[in-house]
Amino acid sequence: EMLGPTVTVGEILVEIMATTVGSGFLEPQSLIGPYPSGAPAIFIDQVAWMGGSAGIIASVGSDDFGMLNIERLRRDGVDVSAISIIDDKPTGSAFVRYRPDGVRDFVFNIAHSAAGDIRMTETARTLVERAGHVHIMGSAFAIPGVAEVLDYAIKTVKRRGGSVSFDPNIRKELLDAERGRTLLDEIIAVTDLLLPSGEELLAAAGETDEAAAVTKLLDAGVNEIVLKRGRDGSSFFGRDGKRADCPAFIVDEVDPTGAGDCFGATYLTCRRMGMEPERALLLANASGARNVTRQGPMEGVSSLANLEAFITATTTENAHE
Ligand code: ATP
Ligand code: MG
Repeated sequence: EMLGPTVTVGEILVEIMATTVGSGFLEPQSLIGPYPSGAPAIFIDQVAWMGGSAGIIASVGSDDFGMLNIERLRRDGVDVSAISIIDDKPTGSAFVRYRPDGVRDFVFNIAHSAAGDIRMTETARTLVERAGHVHIMGSAFAIPGVAEVLDYAIKTVKRRGGSVSFDPNIRKELLDAERGRTLLDEIIAVTDLLLPSGEELLAAAGETDEAAAVTKLLDAGVNEIVLKRGRDGSSFFGRDGKRADCPAFIVDEVDPTGAGDCFGATYLTCRRMGMEPERALLLANASGARNVTRQGPMEGVSSLANLEAFITATTTENAHE
């Protein structure tokens, strides 16, 4: 933490969601939103909520969707100085509707929105030069300018003795391409903390079973792997065969979007604050669980005090059963 803020790069969006369960948007549908969103934005907001120093490199349009995101991030303590405002493109958006089986239908406007215009700027450079940690959000690789910004950020932060985390939530089509594989290997080579979700662990390693994937990634130089398993909780894998498993908290899931981002931000910030992996894992599970109980991807962010109270309440509740 003393080295400087956690910095991430990537899409800022608004999310607008269907109020009914069903398939897609082929008929008129009532909607709720706009909610602040974008995986990197949710992540960095949660870092700030945990009391971590936080900044984001991103771009929004000169419109209300952009303003609502910037204001939320600023209010929550994120350094917004490296968010560019693009005059001739709208802020990115995602329309989402849940099917009965939990699968989501999306209509995205990212590539042709302001979010698709992320590039290296003077303010981005200034932020990176103060940073102590870079968080790489795989989803952001859909944006052409992101690779160059990340390349500079990783080199600069590593040179300063800082660290790198990586959430490989990369679009599958990108991963399957040759370029995707090379990119993934290059990132893994500089990653200290890897935060995959489910099958992403296997895809990141190019393996078909969990144990082999973990071994391969640790051998490739990753220090810690924290695997997100949704309702099945999470696992930590460290060097020298160190492992910890944490069951998920039992909650009513209202909206699963953002759980992984809150989880990752909480784990990373706890570790940067010097907590042990087991404690960080418990708090991260609580953070993911709290997030899914609220509608809106960024509405369920938590402070350390929120998480401690949630853990105490849940433990007490179970003890009475
Ligand atoms: P996202 O949908 O944001 O991409 P993800 O796939 O990256 O999420 P998940 O594994 O879904 O990540 O969620 C991260 C963590 O949040 C889980 O490991 C778990 O601790 C917690 N979590 C997620 N969903 C639930 C749930 N329904 N009940 C309790 N905890 C949950
Ligand atoms: Mg994920």
